[in-house]
Amino acid sequence: MTRELRTPDRRECHRCGRLEVWEDGSWRVHEDEGRAGNRFCIHEWDINGSFPPFED
Ligand SMILES: [Zn+2]
Repeated sequence: MTRELRTPDRRECHRCGRLEVWEDGSWRVHEDEGRAGNRFCIHEWDINGSFPPFED
């Protein structure tokens, strides 16, 4: 099987610039880079729909 579910290891919010990294099974804010963004933002991640597990 060559098909695999690609899981991104980082994501960024289009709205506030929040940057998160996938770590130990959950998303964590990449605070080291000061990219916590707006805590009240309705985050719109740049990975939405960009890594479809299946293609026609
Ligand atoms: Zn946001």
